[in-house]
Amino acid sequence: MAEEKKVARKKLRTAEAMGKFMADYYYELDNAAKTGEKKIAWCTSVGPAEILRAMGFLVYFPETHSAMLGSSRMATDYIPYANALDYSPEVCSYMTADIGAFLQGVTPLSKAFPGIQSIPKPDVLVFNTNQCRDVRDWFSWFARRFNVPIVGVDGNRHVKVVTDTIVESNAKQMENLIPPLEKVIGKKFDIDKLREAVALSRKCSNLWKDILEVASVKPSPLTFFDGCTLMGPAVVARGTQPAVDIYEQLLEEMKERVKDKEGAVENEKFRIYWDGMPVWGRLRAHSELFAGLNANVLASTYCSSWIFTALDPAEPFKSMARAYSELFNSRSDEYKEEYIKEKIKLYGIDGIIFHDAKTCPYNTNCRYGMSKRLENETGIPSLIINGDLNDLRLVSDEQMKTNVEAFIEQLAENK
Ligand code: SF4
Repeated sequence: MAEEKKVARKKLRTAEAMGKFMADYYYELDNAAKTGEKKIAWCTSVGPAEILRAMGFLVYFPETHSAMLGSSRMATDYIPYANALDYSPEVCSYMTADIGAFLQGVTPLSKAFPGIQSIPKPDVLVFNTNQCRDVRDWFSWFARRFNVPIVGVDGNRHVKVVTDTIVESNAKQMENLIPPLEKVIGKKFDIDKLREAVALSRKCSNLWKDILEVASVKPSPLTFFDGCTLMGPAVVARGTQPAVDIYEQLLEEMKERVKDKEGAVENEKFRIYWDGMPVWGRLRAHSELFAGLNANVLASTYCSSWIFTALDPAEPFKSMARAYSELFNSRSDEYKEEYIKEKIKLYGIDGIIFHDAKTCPYNTNCRYGMSKRLENETGIPSLIINGDLNDLRLVSDEQMKTNVEAFIEQLAENK
């Protein structure tokens, strides 16, 4: 049997600064919601945030809020309230948990950031369906509830090659967002401000990429589970200087760890790639489970989703359209397999975990034979775990533990 032991998790120095960063972000939104001094736009996590920043909106991301519902293990209790409105238990549990929690007047923000009583009311909601259809349904529910406008981009899905036609269509849709957004904010759009936001977003993206790729070093100074919280600024603050500043600090710390040969997992023996969403309510438990087996889950498609190398201030709309169309989760299986193969090489991966998240087919890649195809082509074994991002009724801790232990044992035999 693979031997599991208790391990102390190594805390990052920057984690404290990251906590303050997120607190500042939410208090600014809360203050704007209370005073009305600034307009608030809700945006999907891979939506056109740069346009909103350039126009002077504060930007709130419901997905990050729902991930907090998940990580605080509140989500499961609130999903049934959305189910009662005929939002199926099988659709996005980010959406159902968020709607349910709102209906019950609760938010994890209150506990994390004293004084905040509710999520910030939107003045407008902006989506991009590049990631899934559920974001439109989710945002539409809140748009009706608050009686505010909703606008968005219909992104492409299952794309093998991001063609110029796709880019032009998406860029046009982004340009078309401007007039309704000008109406909400009461100011004229300024292309130079958009160039600035795109430039800052690109810097943030480059730093985030460098941070994640530090994990290619042996032993890796980073885990996927750390990455899930460290990615906060890349999601909620790309397009701003503070996001750049904090990632510069984090990258420095990562480099120090590399210099000191300090692995995030003691005595790292197995290097694992994670495909799909995390199980937010089990982030810590999963981190300890793998670390206890000397296995480091050190890279993922999920954390890399906020790397946008196409962003270019010289062509703000087109480059945003390209960057957001190149998103992993909106691509074809052929593209995804090539992508994962590259990551296997880059990170020196011994095994892959595919998370089959029941309520998110969009971020689940193992339902049409991908794991076996990759296994046959690369010789790297994989394990499919059944679970969910937020609904803990769909997660079996015992099964996860047994399956992961057996998988690590198999990797040990292969070595
Ligand atoms: S990609 Fe999945 S988890 Fe994210 S909003 Fe869409 S359905 Fe929900």
